[in-house]
Amino acid sequence: MARKLLLDLDVGADDALAIAYALGGPDLELLAVTAVFGNVSQREAQENAMSVLDALGARLVPVHPGAVGARGAELPWEPDPSVRRIHGPRGLGRWRPPAPSRRAEAPTAPSAINRLCREWGSELAVVATGPLTNLAAALDEDPDALFAAGSVTVMGGAVSCEGNVSAVAEANIAADPASARRVLESGLPLTLVGLDVTMRAFLPRGALERWRDAGPAGEALAAIVDFYMDSYEGRYPGRDGCPLHDPLAVAVARDPLVVDCVPMALSCETEGPLNGRLFQRLADLPRARKPHAVAMDVDVDRFLRDFEERLERALRGR
Ligand code: CA
Repeated sequence: MARKLLLDLDVGADDALAIAYALGGPDLELLAVTAVFGNVSQREAQENAMSVLDALGARLVPVHPGAVGARGAELPWEPDPSVRRIHGPRGLGRWRPPAPSRRAEAPTAPSAINRLCREWGSELAVVATGPLTNLAAALDEDPDALFAAGSVTVMGGAVSCEGNVSAVAEANIAADPASARRVLESGLPLTLVGLDVTMRAFLPRGALERWRDAGPAGEALAAIVDFYMDSYEGRYPGRDGCPLHDPLAVAVARDPLVVDCVPMALSCETEGPLNGRLFQRLADLPRARKPHAVAMDVDVDRFLRDFEERLERALRGR
């Protein structure tokens, strides 16, 4: 039976690939997308989610509106030019999608997350690949529902490597460290797929040619990812392609053995120069129960083979 999947996304380039990966096989059933600010504004995230779902023939997957800014923020978040240079002017690279076929649906993200966790319990995999604002709000609203999910996987963090928005912080965590701390300190068991592994899982640029041959959906994804690859080429000269941050998190939810994890009990720094840094509190170190499985190694060949097969299926209408 297909595992049920809920994706919490801030739809830029790699979130779009996470959607395609999720749709690329019968063993995952995408029940809903919840949208959060991050790579783009929340409004752009939900529109981009609908556009990508439309392009891939998944018009019936509902998209729920989520947080417009970090926990406690007074104004909606708008990405600055440095983020626009990575994901494109509206988050989808060079792709200019038609207007989405529908609108975002009620309820809002926290209620949608909790409702699906209650409804599907251990059959549901929750994967969050943006700031953790929606998950934190879901825990505030119903402290138990997320604990009923079969798994919670988060793309975020840089535990053993340098960060990508500061020396110590990764973008998703740093965008809302208070929510990250809320989720981490809740004791919710989760798997953390951070830069420690995602920066090793690069998709070579050659894949885009195969996508373009697959028709309009492939051309759309190639236009998104081509831009993203250009931005990585500027930042990491000599590396071919782009990292598959968000698809790797979905892959781990589907096949946990694609990564090796170390158990930890993490918290998050919420201010100052170490803002967004993940760490283990000294008082927690001796504890036997460590709720976070932190991915530290990845079978890159196994993942890339699986990713390309699933993309092929998603782009050719399965
Ligand atoms: Ca993302």
